Amino acid sequence: MFDANEKSLKKVTLLGATGSIGDASCSLLRLHKDQYEVHGLAAATNAHKMYDLICEFQPKRVALFDEHAAKELKDILNNGQSALASKVEVLSGEQGVIELSGDGQADMVIGAIVGAAGLKPLLAAIKTGCRICLANKEALVMSGQLFFDMAKRYGAQVLPVDSEHSAIFQCLPASEQLKMGSCDLAAVGVREILLTGSGGPFRDCQLSELDKVTPAMAINHPVWSMGPKISVDSATMMNKALEYIEARYLFNASKEQVKVIIHPQSVIHSMVSYVDGAIMAQIGQPDMKTPIALAMSYPQRMTAGVEALDFTKISALTFREPQKDRYPCLFLGMEASLCGQAMTTALNAANEVAVASFLNESLPFVGIAKVVDHVLNSISGSSAYELEEILAIDAQARTLAQNFVASFKS
Ligand code: NAD
Ligand code: MG
Repeated sequence: MFDANEKSLKKVTLLGATGSIGDASCSLLRLHKDQYEVHGLAAATNAHKMYDLICEFQPKRVALFDEHAAKELKDILNNGQSALASKVEVLSGEQGVIELSGDGQADMVIGAIVGAAGLKPLLAAIKTGCRICLANKEALVMSGQLFFDMAKRYGAQVLPVDSEHSAIFQCLPASEQLKMGSCDLAAVGVREILLTGSGGPFRDCQLSELDKVTPAMAINHPVWSMGPKISVDSATMMNKALEYIEARYLFNASKEQVKVIIHPQSVIHSMVSYVDGAIMAQIGQPDMKTPIALAMSYPQRMTAGVEALDFTKISALTFREPQKDRYPCLFLGMEASLCGQAMTTALNAANEVAVASFLNESLPFVGIAKVVDHVLNSISGSSAYELEEILAIDAQARTLAQNFVASFKS
């Protein structure tokens, strides 16, 4: 069990170490070498970046999902500083990532793998009873009830890294912060959670221009610098749909207790509205190091290398309601959330296939929502709980999505 008051160095395993959240986490680990040591690092394919991270952080174990990349890493290690090669164990494949994540040697696991690939490693980490710093929202969207039932059973503390969920967490009373997955929002006077989103790069364009959106245009997010998948999700607002589902699981919220609002400046990271008319907002620079730092150091605070916001430089804070014709994915996701675990799992899988197809230019931008809609209409049954059921629906939804993409005519 994670003990925040324990004075010795905290051991960290970072899943998704070579990505955007991985980079932000590494800068915090670099800043706080007196508090954290790296036990393990996992990523998909980038052997050279992993080698650089090994040189810098000297982890005991690393894992690369891609077998060829793991072999390449071993070759680089053997040809480089020989002392390092004997100090680090290199694991490979899906099993290697799961083995590292679940080895029970880390005080905390930062879950920053993108997509469904992060689910099994995170469940393995939960079984060790460590702290889970959760960026990988897709894992929660796929498995919410199981995820929190397991966290409870094994004593794993789940802390949100997603900036909106970190904001909501910070706007809740301390009693609820310790109850992720089983909050009682009504009992502490919460009227509703106001989940904010920038609206992405196409919030102001003509709807007819959405037909011409290219991957390069979609990845160019106006505020946040992120990996390609979540950047496309932000442009369609599927990211906000996933976050709506994530918020419902994390804060045990009913559909009426979460409302999505577009806030283009992304200064307010989300809010909690109380029954007496008070609204608490968490405000700061749009920099993921802030929420990652809180998840790592909670209940303390630590420096994150992030400047405080200068209010005199902000000209306006604006808000608007999201429109269905511009953001069909947002509404598909919110509807799926009402239909149970099978639908949110299918939604996530269909979206992953659609986004990958858009990024490799085999699907137009406006096709993403059509693929997701098609898959949700084709899946039968609404319940799923055990991992095997979840993975079966995920696979079924991917096949349906791939077939639809192959036959897609706009
Ligand atoms: P990214 O594409 O930049 O990085 C993804 C990381 O996952 C990489 O290190 C990659 O190697 C690794 N990975 C992919 N598949 C893997 C596999 N099968 N096994 C092991 N590692 C694998 O993505 P990102 O932007 O860092 O996002 C990561 C997660 O954090 C996503 O779930 C995203 O929704 C969430 N998130 C990101 C941000 C952000 O600002 N980037 C904000 C909030 C939440
Ligand atoms: Mg977010």
